[in-house]
Amino acid sequence: MALVVKKFGGSSVANAERVFNVARIITEDYKKGNDVVVVVSAQGDTTDDLIEKAVEINPGNRSKREMDMLLAAGEQISIALLAMAIEKLGFPVVSLLGWQAGFVTDSKYSVARIKNVNPERLRNELDKRSIVIVAGFQGVNKYDDVTTLGRGGSDTSAVAIAATLKADLCQIYTDVDGVYTADPRKIKGAKKLDEITYDEMLELATLGAQVLNNRSVEMAKKYNVELEVLSSLEQKPGTIVKEVTSMEKMLVKGVACDTDIIIVSIIGLKDAPGIAFKVFNQLSRKNVNVDIILQSVGRHGTKDITFTVPKGQKAETLEAIENIRPLIAFDDLVIKDTVGKVSIVGAGMETHPGVASKMFEALSDANINIQMISTSEIKISVLIDAVDCQKAVQVVHDAFHG
Ligand code: ADP
Ligand code: ASP
Ligand code: MG
Repeated sequence: MALVVKKFGGSSVANAERVFNVARIITEDYKKGNDVVVVVSAQGDTTDDLIEKAVEINPGNRSKREMDMLLAAGEQISIALLAMAIEKLGFPVVSLLGWQAGFVTDSKYSVARIKNVNPERLRNELDKRSIVIVAGFQGVNKYDDVTTLGRGGSDTSAVAIAATLKADLCQIYTDVDGVYTADPRKIKGAKKLDEITYDEMLELATLGAQVLNNRSVEMAKKYNVELEVLSSLEQKPGTIVKEVTSMEKMLVKGVACDTDIIIVSIIGLKDAPGIAFKVFNQLSRKNVNVDIILQSVGRHGTKDITFTVPKGQKAETLEAIENIRPLIAFDDLVIKDTVGKVSIVGAGMETHPGVASKMFEALSDANINIQMISTSEIKISVLIDAVDCQKAVQVVHDAFHG
């Protein structure tokens, strides 16, 4: 007998037929004698549709608290429907909202972090041999307000439960049958990986591979929760995400693309100590997630600082820079919002020179101009025009996996 956590994404529960399909996967496992906890996302495009409704009411600055109240409703619908389907199949089941399942978060509405999961209710229900269905992507903060964990957050809910209950298995069911060398819906020749390390998956997820939420991978690594990413529509083994894999021979595990970023350039800053600190300190106070940073060589007493931030944080970024304008003189502020970041990831590249040049060659052959470059031990990222992204990922993927 095992304790299994299963998570089903929005497309896996998009309509009644899919809900019953998921109910059958769950009850098959339960019939083997396993304890089963299930995390579900909102059905299909429900979360996007709810955001649209909010924009219709107030296109401007909506309160994040009310947005969380709204978006959490999507998951409330799917847990109830899935529980009803399981009931209909004749099995004991209970659905729980995030707070009922013990999810306590910090108070950062819309991007809340899980502080702890109080396992009491979950354990009680499992002791009664109920199948437990938990609303993903949500919790409660110290003010008893509903919070959400950020887009794709249900993956993290599942890993948090698996870590808390020390589950034997954490399965992330989705609409593809595993993690591929690139998005299989967009890139020809993308290959399914049997396994991938936490570190590689974390980079891929952070750099745009939507298949797993990056925080969920971070948490899985921290608590040593082995994950399997697999299809809810086909019965076959998926991809295992774990600490060490036996596939080291593959130099580049994956290619990812992120067009959800903007480039910010502050031009003509004074070339003096403390300027970079003032800029980035102000940005961090606003919780802006700065990624690639480039500072030009000082010339005639001035310098430029260029960096990338998520598109969704443009307003906070501009506000932060306006706040410190009196402290740091500069000539111009330039925003470029049609850019994309294409990245290659692989633990093997650390010890193999020539990987970067192969990537740049592929881009050069396709006549794609590189605007910025950033590297770490296991990844190389380039910033290019957003319109070139699809082509760039394909040619870079062909170069390593063709
Ligand atoms: P869910 O609703 O189940 O959470 P998501 O839409 O969040 O599913 O994630 C699954 C999608 O991730 C796939 O449909 C696929 O298009 C996309 N994807 C992007 N990169 C990859 C990759 N490297 N491997 C597999 N899928 C990927
Ligand atoms: N429903 C939420 C979203 O669409 C959470 C999730 O799917 O994981 O982002
Ligand atoms: Mg997802």
